[in-house]
Amino acid sequence: MTRLFVVIPCYNEQEVLPETASRLKKKFQDLQADGRISEDSRILLVDDGSKDETWSIIRRLHEEDPLYQGIKLAHNRGQQNAFIAGLHEATGLADCVITMDADLQDDINAMDAMLQSYENGSDIVFGVRSNRDTDSFFKKHTAQGYYRFMRMMGIELVYNHADYRLMSSRALTALGEYHEVNLFLRGIVPELGFQTDVVYYKRAERFAGESKYPLSKMLSLASEGITSFSVQPLKVISWLGIFIAFLSLAGLLYALISKWTGNAVSGWTAIVCSIWFLGGLQLLCIGVVGAYIGKIYNEVKARPRYIIEENTLEKEE
Ligand code: UDP
Ligand code: MG
Repeated sequence: MTRLFVVIPCYNEQEVLPETASRLKKKFQDLQADGRISEDSRILLVDDGSKDETWSIIRRLHEEDPLYQGIKLAHNRGQQNAFIAGLHEATGLADCVITMDADLQDDINAMDAMLQSYENGSDIVFGVRSNRDTDSFFKKHTAQGYYRFMRMMGIELVYNHADYRLMSSRALTALGEYHEVNLFLRGIVPELGFQTDVVYYKRAERFAGESKYPLSKMLSLASEGITSFSVQPLKVISWLGIFIAFLSLAGLLYALISKWTGNAVSGWTAIVCSIWFLGGLQLLCIGVVGAYIGKIYNEVKARPRYIIEENTLEKEE
């Protein structure tokens, strides 16, 4: 029978965690009663360095029922690293793992279809949102623009799929081979290959508490996604350089003609504007190059992606 692990990153989730835990427990009991998953399946809650009561809630849940397991990261390392920590700890223990958010936005009933697909031989099953009705206007449009931009950059993401997905132990082992520090799961997992499938679900509103993804974190995830997968921006810079060079040829022609026709002083505005424009452009280009150099710097250091402070799984298994 399938041993299932559900991995959930939790950052300051004291408001939703008890509800999430009890709904998932009910789900596990139903799946166990149907003989779909084994009795030693687990819910693995990864505390991403929360500052509230999240870890004490996780520990209490674990003491009451070994169904719940917890990992406490020493620092807030972000949702992606929290997922990676959980996936890494589950590798070797679980037959398959489902990752999902703590806030009950991902419909837990879609797990049935995911497991069905796994039983039929899929190694990776993506949970895809059937629509974006519950998103704010801003989030909906920035998200759609982002997918389009990523496609332009040559990065294949699964449209409207976030981090609700099932992975088999085979896929997990393959993921473990990726040692880069800046791991962008939504880009890597589709790249793994294997037999994949898609399950549609309706994404709900956050059950309680507020979003732990402010604009700054969203932007940082977005730029990580691009610079981790594509060197396209560097090429765009070169093309921009060529384009501007041609443009300045035309400018040169204009300047010469003005000189010959005796209107030389009138060029002042054009000069000032182009100085500002080129200055800005150069800074932008240096910035993009810098982003990649920064990335090399981080990869070369090869620091750990996270540090585990406490882990209930260790004592269990
Ligand atoms: N999260 C995390 N670390 C962070 C930020 C978020 O582990 O630094 C978790 C959070 O607890 C939740 C999931 O990532 O389980 C998604 O966050 P949230 O629901 O706040 O994002 P949104 O749905 O608003 O994009
Ligand atoms: Mg959410």
